[in-house]
Amino acid sequence: MTAPPKQGPPALRRRRRIAICGGGVAAIEALLGLRALLGLAPHVDLVAPNRHFVYEPLAVAEPFGLAQTRIFDVAAVAAEYRSQLHVASLEAVEPGSGRIVLSGGATLWYDCVIVAVGARRCAWLPGALHFTGAADVASFRALLAQLERGDLSRVAFAAPAGISWTLPTYELALLTASWVADRHLTGIEIAIFTPEEQPLASFGPTASRALRDVLADRGIRLRVNAGAETFVPGALRLTSGESFEVD
Ligand SMILES: Cc1cc2nc3c(=O)[nH]c(=O)nc-3n(C[C@H](O)[C@H](O)[C@H](O)COP(=O)(O)OP(=O)(O)OC[C@H]3O[C@@H](n4cnc5c(N)ncnc54)[C@H](O)[C@@H]3O)c2cc1C
Repeated sequence: MTAPPKQGPPALRRRRRIAICGGGVAAIEALLGLRALLGLAPHVDLVAPNRHFVYEPLAVAEPFGLAQTRIFDVAAVAAEYRSQLHVASLEAVEPGSGRIVLSGGATLWYDCVIVAVGARRCAWLPGALHFTGAADVASFRALLAQLERGDLSRVAFAAPAGISWTLPTYELALLTASWVADRHLTGIEIAIFTPEEQPLASFGPTASRALRDVLADRGIRLRVNAGAETFVPGALRLTSGESFEVD
């Protein structure tokens, strides 16, 4: 590890014990960032229940053989950046006593605590194939095999409402369209249903316009303001009451 003993913001320099709770990209970036800013001075506790950190962004390319999801050992990262790893979950923060409580009952003192425990996943659109990252690469490959055999021909990619990060929906649709074109498969319809007002709305109007052009160029049908409500093989029903034939 190279940790230049920089000064860092004064408010942080006074913190001697920093607890980071989480084992995802936010927690790991917090650890790297703190060491870059403050050097080795503060004691850092890293509280994470997971032993491996899976770098999800590349998972979308893996079913197509274009990338390999990278998996990092959390203990190795913690050791490299001189933090004490506690394989546990954060149960409570007690600001009054300056302690956090971990699963199992252990407690740690802190001057500063960073809670980076991510979002909770919840079930949505039962019956559809869900792509949540590396864990679903095999299922997506099975879908591609069905397309290649001609068992399926109408594929819809649907983004759930209430999320800002819809990028994987577009990545998967575009990669599927290229994959279909490379194999000269015919009669395959690809559509995207998104509750956004514009595709990739959080990236701004320039990106939305560019993406619309790319999708049209690849023959991908786009429906915006379209929240998917239910799916049974053959029919995707939207919250508007409209129904679309998809496999
Ligand atoms: C397929 C896919 C592709 C993506 N592509 C991109 C991309 O290209 N670019 C991009 O910026 N983002 C992308 N994302 C989104 C990105 O992966 C998430 O925004 C990111 O993982 C959020 O990081 P996080 O650390 O906040 O939360 P998470 O990754 O959810 O991590 C939360 C961590 O906290 C731990 N934890 C949970 N509860 C506790 C607790 N009580 N105590 C301690 N630890 C706890 C969990 O074990 C986990 O390690 C993609 C996501 C997916 C699924």
